[in-house]
Amino acid sequence: MKPQGLLLVLSGPSGAGKGTICKALLEQRSDLVYSVSCTTRPPRKGEISGVNYIFTNHEDFEDMINNKGFLEHASVYGNYYGTPRAYVLEQLKAGKDVVLEIDTQGALQVKENFPDGVFVFIVPPSLDELSKRIYNRGTDAEDVIKRRLSAATSELAYASKYDYIVVNDEVEKATSKVSKIMDVEHLRVGRTFYIVDEICKRCKKEEC
Ligand code: 5GP
Repeated sequence: MKPQGLLLVLSGPSGAGKGTICKALLEQRSDLVYSVSCTTRPPRKGEISGVNYIFTNHEDFEDMINNKGFLEHASVYGNYYGTPRAYVLEQLKAGKDVVLEIDTQGALQVKENFPDGVFVFIVPPSLDELSKRIYNRGTDAEDVIKRRLSAATSELAYASKYDYIVVNDEVEKATSKVSKIMDVEHLRVGRTFYIVDEICKRCKKEEC
């Protein structure tokens, strides 16, 4: 019997590099799938609906909230973001690992419903570096950048609620750390006991 997949939740301040780490993990781990979030934020240049986000309007988003279609949802920097429930549950059931790249409010909601999830907080090496990364990214207007930077310090206060903290000084190293966390989490007794069960079932001895 294939066990249920692992739910990996990645959070961290904007510019910490969650997205880059997530992308690298998806390239390296064939059993990992990405949960595409819904958002009311307008698409940035190059973003594709259904790939980066499912871009939607306020009305449709609120309908989905009322129909309990989200595993979690939150208002971040003035826009709604939410994780569609059905896809995540289906994939986990099929034995796939699922990664959510979501903010701290959403991660705390997921933790209440999925205490078995693995919660990883990505931090930048410094706030100066964070500021540089957001400016260099060049995807947001000046006022949005300022809002994201001021939110970063308050978001860091949530780090203690997570299971792991990974400093993203170099993407390759940080990705490898998150991947190792996943490997180890897969070995937890709760996730591997079925192997012992199967061994025992095959054993004819009475003491098993
Ligand atoms: P961005 O607009 O830069 O793509 O994302 C802004 C913030 O929203 C990021 O911190 C990102 O992790 C978070 N976010 C993206 N999708 C979701 C989601 O489905 N739920 C929640 N709670 N946050 C999300």
